[in-house]
Amino acid sequence: MQSLRIDFHSHSTYSDGVLTPTALIERASRNRVTMLALTDHDEVGGLPEAAAAAREAGIGFVPGVEVSVTWAGRTVHVVGLGIDPHNPSLDRGLTGIRISRGLRAVQIAQQLGAAGIPDCLAGASRLAGDAAVIGRGHFARLLVEQGHAADTKAAFKKYLAPGKCGYVAHRWVSFEQAIGWIGDAGGHAVLAHPDRYRLAPLQIHALLDEFKQHGGRALEIGGGLRANPQPLLRLAKHFGFSLSAGSDFHAAAKGTADLGDIPPIPDGARGLWQDWEALRSAA
Ligand code: AMP
Ligand code: MN
Ligand code: MN
Ligand code: MN
Repeated sequence: MQSLRIDFHSHSTYSDGVLTPTALIERASRNRVTMLALTDHDEVGGLPEAAAAAREAGIGFVPGVEVSVTWAGRTVHVVGLGIDPHNPSLDRGLTGIRISRGLRAVQIAQQLGAAGIPDCLAGASRLAGDAAVIGRGHFARLLVEQGHAADTKAAFKKYLAPGKCGYVAHRWVSFEQAIGWIGDAGGHAVLAHPDRYRLAPLQIHALLDEFKQHGGRALEIGGGLRANPQPLLRLAKHFGFSLSAGSDFHAAAKGTADLGDIPPIPDGARGLWQDWEALRSAA
């Protein structure tokens, strides 16, 4: 039997990834991923193409989305898995976020212009293409292209991270809204990359408490937790969360996880996909 190699967090050209949904599935297939979720930022437009390519490649496909949330003044991300992309409630919610994303892009370009880097909106729009709404990742690529930074990581550090000249504090949506829309669309809410929020223990507890109260179901484990997954596992156990697993793949780049490049789920932890199997067999 082929062993399970899942990846429930990835991006395509429909948000800030560099591969089309078809190329993403092809890469997943080459990497021997057996089940992939496409989870573009606030956007579900790439799901039909990805689903068709996955059928062709013979790999399992989970329709997903990564929703931008503001919690206690910080940005956190909620991945919705197993969603119906046509659900009207989810569609309305995501449309609203994309509108606010577009307005933020104008502000980012204005601020970069004031810092002496003109015409960034046109450049970022070109890189985003027709399919995607502009994110900071597109500005980062533009800044690299123009020689302002050596790579996208450096562009974030110098221009786009909080406190830098191209950063715009933005109000996304609440946990209640994001998890509510995901639930309306029949999906399950996963807290994306919990290791990246740099919160003190008390704040992590407060965040997880609220995530749980609103129906959050799982915490995501990814490449960043390979060395020491234990604290996350303890939190999952304490709050009764299952685990999801995702690489958050955007592009092949040194120092970032490739598709399927995920630490093994330790014994005793419960995978979200096991919940689905249980739900399916109970139905
Ligand atoms: P946005 O939702 O447009 O604010 O962009 C968030 C995205 O920017 C994340 O999903 C990552 O793809 C990327 N990102 C955020 N911080 C960094 C960083 N420090 N280095 C590289 N990419 C980053
Ligand atoms: Mn991204
Ligand atoms: Mn994210
Ligand atoms: Mn992501």
